[in-house]
Parts: sequence; C-alpha cells; structure tokens
Amino acid sequence: MNLKIIAFDADDTLWHNEPFFDEAQARFCVLFQDYASNQEILGLILNHQVTNLPLYGFGIKAFTLSMIETALELTNYTISGKGIEKIIAIGKDLLQKPVELLPEVETVLQELQGKYKLVVATKGDLKDQHRKLHDSGIGAFFHHIEVMSDKTELDYQKMLGRLDCKPEDFLMIGNSLKSDVLPILNIGGFGVHIPYHTTWEYEKIDFEIEHDNFYSYTNITEVLPLLIK
Ligand SMILES: [Mg+2]
Repeated sequence: MNLKIIAFDADDTLWHNEPFFDEAQARFCVLFQDYASNQEILGLILNHQVTNLPLYGFGIKAFTLSMIETALELTNYTISGKGIEKIIAIGKDLLQKPVELLPEVETVLQELQGKYKLVVATKGDLKDQHRKLHDSGIGAFFHHIEVMSDKTELDYQKMLGRLDCKPEDFLMIGNSLKSDVLPILNIGGFGVHIPYHTTWEYEKIDFEIEHDNFYSYTNITEVLPLLIK
C-alpha cells in the first residue's frame, strides 16, 4: 500500500450517533402509541425516509420531515399543530445532542497525524456535521471535511478528484459496509470496517464482503499496525 489519504466516516465511527436516533424514534413511538405498534411505526418512518432520500437526502432535518409525514399517515391527517410541534422538538433535540467521541479515536488520529492527509467523509446535515466536528475538539486533525449528499461510487470519485487523490492511494474507515466500504472497494480504494453496536436498517447489507483491499476490525486502534510500519 502507498496510501496518501485516510478518510473517516463521522457518525458511529468518530462519535456516537445512532443511539440518539433510536431514542428519538422511541419518543415518537410513545407519542403515537394509540395508533400502531412500535414495530409498525418504525417501519413507516423507515419507508418514508427511504422514499424521501432522493429529495431530502440524509440527516436530521430529513428525518424530522419523514417523522411528520409518518404522523400524518398514522393520524389520517388529523394531527394538530401542537402534535407537529412535538415532532419538530424531537428533531431539534437531536440537533443539540452532546458529541461524545468513541474510545481511542483521538489516539488513532494523533498517531496518523503528519503521516497521512486525514479527511472526514460524512453524510448528514451540513450545519449539524460542522457543529459536531467543532464540538468534538478533533477538527484540527483533519485536512479536509466533506459533507456528502450520498456515498455512492460517483460521490467518492468526485471527492477524490477534488482531493487530487487516486483511489489506490485512498483508505476509508467507517461503520457502514454499504456506505463506507463497498463503494470504495468498487472504485479501487481500500476499505476498513469497524462495526458499531447498532446499525440503521438502511445501512445493513445481507452478504459477506471478500476483497483483497478489505479489512475488518473490532476496535479502531487495530488500524494502526496496518497504517504505521
Ligand atoms: Mg457512520
């Protein structure tokens, strides 16, 4: 390997995220517990999220709109203004959650700093991701922050073009096989999967990856022997 750039996914790779969404959905389920089971409600939210992806993209604002659409469906369009306000409050709370780094993230960044260009490559709301990076205190480690509308092969190719980096010189670390690893392998880069204890349904895949450029670890510090010779 002759890597030049190491990119990190942000949510559930650098800091905790998915549990906040789970908590938000649990609050939503309580609000509408008279209308459907939790499982049904979660399924409806996911349907709206996936249907809305081409229009809204990813992030908390898109999630909030999908919750509102789910509430309209559940209540047969009878939800009150106060009801809508409660859903917006769930979204606003998500936008103000504390940023808690995952264990050893800072150690890894310190070790890699100066040896590679370090990049954050994340989906989500632009403002929210910039806030989290600021609050995380690790912003100074990174050469470049890319808040992407999606993580397809084309999105990564465009980012690599802007960074003037060839795919074979690029390694991406993330918790999502679907978004952080597969597209990178497909364009000729290196992918490292570090699973988080919970994964959003949309990010799940139902097959095993076997690829010469693919690495899977349980802890982020395990990338260090691979990257520091
Ligand atoms: Mg992630």
